[in-house]
Amino acid sequence: MKIAFIGLGNMGGGMAANLVKAGHSVRAFDLSTPAREAAEAAGCAAFDSAKTACEGVDAVVSMLPNGAIVKAVYENEVIGHAPHTAVLIDCSTIDVATAREVADAAHAQGYKMVDAPVSGGIAAAAGGTLTFMVGGEVHAFDAAKPVLEAMGKAVIHAGAVGAGQTAKICNNMLLAITMIGTAEAMKMAQKLGLDPQKFYEISSQSSGYNWSLNAYTPMPGVGVESPADRDYQGGFATGLMLKDLRLAMEAAEGAGANTPLGAHAREIYEEFAEDNAALDFSGIIKTL
Ligand code: NAD
Repeated sequence: MKIAFIGLGNMGGGMAANLVKAGHSVRAFDLSTPAREAAEAAGCAAFDSAKTACEGVDAVVSMLPNGAIVKAVYENEVIGHAPHTAVLIDCSTIDVATAREVADAAHAQGYKMVDAPVSGGIAAAAGGTLTFMVGGEVHAFDAAKPVLEAMGKAVIHAGAVGAGQTAKICNNMLLAITMIGTAEAMKMAQKLGLDPQKFYEISSQSSGYNWSLNAYTPMPGVGVESPADRDYQGGFATGLMLKDLRLAMEAAEGAGANTPLGAHAREIYEEFAEDNAALDFSGIIKTL
């Protein structure tokens, strides 16, 4: 297939390279020259605008920083410029309302469009092992699926347009809450004189079992190997977790959902991000 790829940053660079590896012809654009050059080195054809990258394609994939940029790129450079038969796939993490608004604008001109945010970080993007949670009509999902399969290990249809973003922010709100809870419990066990490794062994096989404890243990030298063992470098940056929590709280407010722990998690990460935005989000344990 001929695919336009817009936004070749930490995530998009690896994803575009995997589309090339899967045999697709990738027409790439990013505002950043080094990002375009890296995409060319990975086998993409680089273009100097999103408009030209979209010419004659079967699909458009975007991986951009936020909703305002996604809206501007689609409304000014994709819709009306890509062939109307192309499927439009936005993989960025953005607010549900903007995802719906952009899809409505695309539908009005006859395009198929899905929101397809990802779970998995930069390593999963490079390794082609992302999980995609996809919102859109069935025929749009069916058209997007082969493109997404070339970049991930799981492609799940979440529901109508916006459902992908909804799944993503609800999941990450839960992740923030379980990480803070796990860190609190580990530190409290330690303060009470229990060996943290013993606590890990017990709780990871008891009702305290959860992903933050079992698969991403936030205390160095305890449990599984994780960013904690690398002084909280790499992994999932606190700044990105805060972005997702803000989107989650905005969506909760709009929907009238009562999320007291989500709101508290956002406050806790807001404070931590002031000086630690680049640290892995499990570094929150250092504040406890
Ligand atoms: P990034 O900042 O590394 O990449 C974004 C890229 O978009 C940059 O290269 C930038 O130059 C480009 N860009 C900005 N405006 C543009 C425009 N108008 N036209 C073309 N290109 C433009 O960010 P990232 O880490 O790759 O994240 C991208 C998206 O993926 C975000 O929405 C983020 O929330 C989401 N995400 C990131 C991770 C992660 O671990 N990094 C994990 C899951 C989801």
